[in-house]
Amino acid sequence: MRRILIFIMLPTAIILLIPIFMAFLAPADEGNSPGGEGGGRGGPEITVQISSKGETAKTVMMPLEEYLVGVVAAEMPAGFPMEALRAQAVAARTYALKKIYRGFSEKGPHPDAHICTDHTHCQAWKSQEEMRAAWGKNVQDLQRKITSAVETTRGQILTYNGSLIEPVYHSTSNGKTENSEGAWQSEVPYLRSVSSPWDRESPRFISSVEYTLEEIDQRLGTTLRAIPVGNFSANSPIGISESSATGRARVVTVGGKEFTAAEIRESLGLASCDFSWEIQGGSIKFTCKGYGHGVGMSQYGARGMALEDHDYKKILKYYYTGVNLERAY
Ligand SMILES: [Zn+2]
Repeated sequence: MRRILIFIMLPTAIILLIPIFMAFLAPADEGNSPGGEGGGRGGPEITVQISSKGETAKTVMMPLEEYLVGVVAAEMPAGFPMEALRAQAVAARTYALKKIYRGFSEKGPHPDAHICTDHTHCQAWKSQEEMRAAWGKNVQDLQRKITSAVETTRGQILTYNGSLIEPVYHSTSNGKTENSEGAWQSEVPYLRSVSSPWDRESPRFISSVEYTLEEIDQRLGTTLRAIPVGNFSANSPIGISESSATGRARVVTVGGKEFTAAEIRESLGLASCDFSWEIQGGSIKFTCKGYGHGVGMSQYGARGMALEDHDYKKILKYYYTGVNLERAY
């Protein structure tokens, strides 16, 4: 009797398990209903260190998919088209899952959490209250839209050579995205420069900021005020000594001192490393093209592609060269 039962149960178990294995292996591109999966729950949980202004940070554990709704809400304007929001959801999921796989790091600022809500360190995230405060009477519609972007891409992640990618993204490029080594040090095969003409539609495509020489000296530790302004026309106090192939500065000299463009960008609060300047008497006006480091997916580019009817898979594969869209769960 027992043997008969095993004979009956074994094939049944195999039949039940096959779809589970298939789900692990199937590229998401071939799924006919991405994220449908019969509405099954589960999936990984993530430990998030939440910090909001004026409050002590708290650590909360939540389902990864629930966390992603807060990330997409914070990282991309909710009014963007659905396919752009889906692309953002997949990029954010890939980033978060990488953090989960890495585990807690004692060295970092959150030794008991996978990730934090500080966008300068990990990814931005909005709580329900913050969404309500930001969207007012539209909160329900926008929340539903973002939840749908997350749910319809459930479990989908980006890989390169079988490993999760570093899915960096930025608001607006200068018309071309940047190669990884143009902004940082290492050459990453899937972070290649591509043309991104849609970014010209971004309200952040051009921005400018003006500082007095004194302010620049304070921020950079330079001594521009000691140089007679009359000398500036013959000898510009600022010079770009190295730029990337896409027109972004890499090394900048200010008043004889050398800085990386990233240092200048941070210290002067410039929108990007593609900047020009104009000296007007005792002050310098910087004009920047693009917003952000320029590497990986451009969010305004994703918006533009979505408006031209490209789906999120096309958008992701355009901005991340040679990657695969797969299902992690
Ligand atoms: Zn963090």
